[in-house]
Amino acid sequence: MQDMTMRPRIKLIPSWLRLISKITLQLVFFFALILRAQPALAYCQATSCSSDPECRRNRETGCTTSGIPLSWRRGCIGFAVGGQGSPKTGISSDVLATVTQDAIEIWGGVSCGDESISLSLKYSGPVSCEQAGYQPAAGNANIISFVDEGWAYTSNQDDGASSSDNLGHTELTYDLATGELVDTDIELNSEDAVFSTEPNETEYDLLTVVLHEMGHALGLDHSQVSGSVMQARSGPGELRHQLHPDDRAGVCALYGGFREEGSCVPDGGLANDCAGQEILLPGDVSGKTEVAGCSFGLGPVRHNGAVLVSLLFLLCLAVWNRFCLGKEQDSFDVEK
Ligand SMILES: [Zn+2]
Repeated sequence: MQDMTMRPRIKLIPSWLRLISKITLQLVFFFALILRAQPALAYCQATSCSSDPECRRNRETGCTTSGIPLSWRRGCIGFAVGGQGSPKTGISSDVLATVTQDAIEIWGGVSCGDESISLSLKYSGPVSCEQAGYQPAAGNANIISFVDEGWAYTSNQDDGASSSDNLGHTELTYDLATGELVDTDIELNSEDAVFSTEPNETEYDLLTVVLHEMGHALGLDHSQVSGSVMQARSGPGELRHQLHPDDRAGVCALYGGFREEGSCVPDGGLANDCAGQEILLPGDVSGKTEVAGCSFGLGPVRHNGAVLVSLLFLLCLAVWNRFCLGKEQDSFDVEK
């Protein structure tokens, strides 16, 4: 009896049970690390600094932490499409119009609590002007158009992407003092990418790209949340036709609450023809406004640091199990 009470308690636990307990604890710790590594809802609002790669960003969310936050202050904006479509890839302006209206319905259909978003989105029809930019002294249009030749933009990702490494580009013209958006234009890189409404494994889904760029047009920046429309990259054949809760949270943060719809006509009236007018392009600063842009990266989503840390942890776990746990079990067996 005395001998029983003096015996070390651990010897009453079979070695196989100790092994299972340790592995279970390690797995719990590992999955806790994975869950901790996934960012919480982390939509980002574009700021006047978003297009600058040197701009300071939150290390966890990637959101810009400086600059003036950008958003529309009016109650309604319209989107027009370029009347040429894409002769190079055979996509008509009618197809682009249908996709644009689908994107308008998806973003405009978001509910924030019991109410829809307070920014009405309308389709303005096709326009002959396909020049992105802002006309300070004339009419304007928020144009969505293809660029079959002369794609000029580089991705503003931190991986040094080349000019052919992005699918779309959104220009934002805003009031320098207040961050109020006054114009936006979306260009689609049909020079380097093949778009389709039914993409195969080498083509890019048109609605996925337009939906993403329209998010920028509303004032959202890239999100690091996996599966969100505002994630920075998209691979060929990939479809994202539904907003992620993170996308909805972002648009509701900017446009929740009530506001009068008012006029949907852009500054200076809706411009069909832009010939002969002064047009401000990205980097141009007038007395009142500045034009900036953001590009949608082409290619698969990059693995983030959390995944690499997790893989390293798994490797360490395997090594620890092989050498440390194995030795401990040996010593237990010898003692017994
Ligand atoms: Zn983007």
